[in-house]
Amino acid sequence: MSASSEQLFARAQQLIPGGVNSPVRAFRSVGGAPFFTKSASGATLTTADGRELIDFVCTWGPAIHGHNHPHIKAAIADALENGTSFGTPNPHEVEMAELIVKFFPSIQKVRMCNSGTEATMSAIRLARGFTSRDKIIKFAGCYHGHSDSLLVAAGSGALTHGHPDSAGVPAAFARETVVLPFNDTAALDAAFAANPGQIAGVILEPYIGNVGFIKPDPGYLQHVRAACTKHGAVLIFDEVMTGFRLARGGVQELEKITPDLTTLGKIIGGGLPVGAFGGRTDIMDQLAPLGPVYQAGTLSGNPLALAAGIAALKLLDELNPYAQLDALGRQVASAALSAAQAKGLALQAPQTGSMLSLFFTDRPVRDLPTAMTSDAKLFSRFFHACLAAGVYAPPSAYEAWFLSTAHEGAAVARACEIISGAIKSL
Ligand SMILES: *Cc1c(COP(=O)(O)O)cnc(C)c1O
Repeated sequence: MSASSEQLFARAQQLIPGGVNSPVRAFRSVGGAPFFTKSASGATLTTADGRELIDFVCTWGPAIHGHNHPHIKAAIADALENGTSFGTPNPHEVEMAELIVKFFPSIQKVRMCNSGTEATMSAIRLARGFTSRDKIIKFAGCYHGHSDSLLVAAGSGALTHGHPDSAGVPAAFARETVVLPFNDTAALDAAFAANPGQIAGVILEPYIGNVGFIKPDPGYLQHVRAACTKHGAVLIFDEVMTGFRLARGGVQELEKITPDLTTLGKIIGGGLPVGAFGGRTDIMDQLAPLGPVYQAGTLSGNPLALAAGIAALKLLDELNPYAQLDALGRQVASAALSAAQAKGLALQAPQTGSMLSLFFTDRPVRDLPTAMTSDAKLFSRFFHACLAAGVYAPPSAYEAWFLSTAHEGAAVARACEIISGAIKSL
C-alpha cells in the first residue's frame, strides 16, 4: 500500500516549511490537512488515498483543457525525444512568440520566462527602466506574484494568511509602491496628482482573480488607460490568470483596451512552468541585449514547457471553447445561488467564463474591503462539506474557482448537486 496523504503530510512537515511548496496548499484558511494528489485526468484528481475529486482549482488556472490532456501529453513526449534543455535559441520559442502576438495585438514583442512572478517582476523593472521613474501603482487585493515591489497589499495566499505585507520586504521598496483601492477612479487621479512625473507604471489584474473573482465597474479600465497615457506611465495588464482563460486575447480583448505591457503565465505553459511578458516594441527593445534593462533565465524558453504551452494554445484556437466554458461557469454559479436562496443564505457569485467566486456576503463585491465581508468561517464549512462529498473547491474564501472543458457533462452535473447539497447543509 502506498503512503496516505496523512503519512505524506507528516513527512513533508519535517522537511518542507508548512509541508508545502506554496502556502495556500496547506489549507490553513479552511482548516484541516491537505490531501496529496497521485494523478489527475480531465476534471478529476485522484488522491494518494484513492479518492476521486472533481477539481475546481485546475492547478490554479493552467488546466483549461482539463488535466493530462492527450494532445498536450503527446506534445511533451515528442519534445522529450529531442532533449530537455539546450541553452541556445530553439524553434519552439519562435512559434510561441508568434502565437502570443497573434492573439494579443497589444503585444508586438514578447520575452519568455519561467513563472508569473518573473513576468511581473521583469515588467515592473522594464517600466522603470523605460520611464526612468521609480514608483509603481498597484491595487489592494491584486496579486502579481511574490517579488518585493509587488508583495504589498497583495491578495491570494498573502491575503489568506494575513500577511498583506510580507516580512523581509524592505520598507524602502514598499515605499516605491503606491497601493490604491480598485474600482476607484478618484483615488487613481489623486495618486497621479500627488506624485507628478514619478509614476513609472500601473499594474493591475484587469479582472481580479486573487481575492476571489472581481470585475471592474464599467468604464473603470478605460479610465486607468487614459490616466496612464496622460501621465506617461506604462500600463501593465497582469493577465497571468485571465490570459487565454476568459478569451484568447484575455480581458484586453473583452474590454477592447490596449495596455502597454502584458504579463502571461499559467495557461501558456500547458501545465509546465512558464511565464511571459510583452508589449510595445519601443518598450520591449529596452531589454538586454538590445537595451539597458537586464533580464535573463537559464531555462527560459524551455523546449518541453513551450511544447506543452503551444499545444494548449493551439487547442484553444481550434476549439474556441469560450462559449462552452461560460455556460459551464454559469451553471455552477446559478446552482450555488439557487441553493443559497432556498436556504436563505446571502451569497454573491460573480462569474465570467470559466472563473467564478462564491462570497458568503450580502454586499456586492467590487474591491478588497467588500470581498473581506465574506464569511470565511462559513466558507470553510462549505469547503469541507464539498470535499467530503467529492468536490475540491479552492481552499480559501479568497481564491477564484476555475473550470475546464473537461467539466462538461457528468462532472459538472454531479458537482452542481454536491455544491447545492453542501450549501443546504450549512
Ligand atoms: C498566479 C499569478 C501570478 C504569479 O504567477 P506564478 O507562476 O505563481 O509565479 C501573477 N499574477 C497573477 C494575476 C496570477 O494569478
